[in-house]
Amino acid sequence: MTALGSSIMNQDAIAAAAAIAPHFVEIDDLQRRASASIAAATGAEAGFVTACSSAAITLAIAGAMTGVDRAAIERLPDTSGLRNEVVVQLGHLVNYGAPLDQAVRLAGAKVVPVGQATAAAAYQLAAAIGERTAAALYVVSHHAVHYGQLPLETFIGICRGRGVPVIVDAASEYDLCGFLAAGADIALYSGHKFLGGPTSGIVAGSEALVRAAYLQNRGIGRGMKIGKEGIYGLIAALAAWQARDHAAIRAAERETLALSA
Ligand SMILES: *Cc1c(COP(=O)(O)O)cnc(C)c1O
Repeated sequence: MTALGSSIMNQDAIAAAAAIAPHFVEIDDLQRRASASIAAATGAEAGFVTACSSAAITLAIAGAMTGVDRAAIERLPDTSGLRNEVVVQLGHLVNYGAPLDQAVRLAGAKVVPVGQATAAAAYQLAAAIGERTAAALYVVSHHAVHYGQLPLETFIGICRGRGVPVIVDAASEYDLCGFLAAGADIALYSGHKFLGGPTSGIVAGSEALVRAAYLQNRGIGRGMKIGKEGIYGLIAALAAWQARDHAAIRAAERETLALSA
């Protein structure tokens, strides 16, 4: 999708991006508004807008390692003294145009693969979690292996029991509420796929982890900056997504497919 210039932006998102372009804004204020929109759309406590999902992965992982410790944030990608391991099922280590594991390593974290490409078991996840585990990453995607992986609920259950936060990469999934409702601490989405927003990403989840991820903008996140037009455009795209008649649009798409079959 990125290679195609991402999705076609919807009219509301285009209008919002154009409307804010000639104005100064306080970015933290605008992100506070985005947080309210993201919370309303996802059921999360809080959220913020990133440059894309790949940036969202890096920032969420960084936040899970540093918390709100400003000195640690400025030290990344040096993770000395921090828990820096991220467990991921091997079948989830996808390439979405770039290697997912690189987005994790970019924060300074170390990827700890769980299981084999086509099989991951509860005991393997349990054994992969240790004193240095900062987070667990779960990928929901057509790119991932679709059999032999741990169901999200099982994955969350094991991680919760060990006090490890679960970050779900749901970049191109329509379900904005289900992963957080299932107990994920953070869910990540792209703003420029199904949402039809400007190139952007969403971090949604618990207030503490969202704050820690957001503070990375004063560190490694600087080079992944989202502009005011991206944030405001994403807010409009989220509103349009919620107002849209999904059933009618899906029916029209089915009809088109039937005609062309
Ligand atoms: C598209 C995709 C990404 C990357 O999304 P960007 O917003 O383009 O960075 C990450 N993970 C998954 C599962 C994806 O489908």
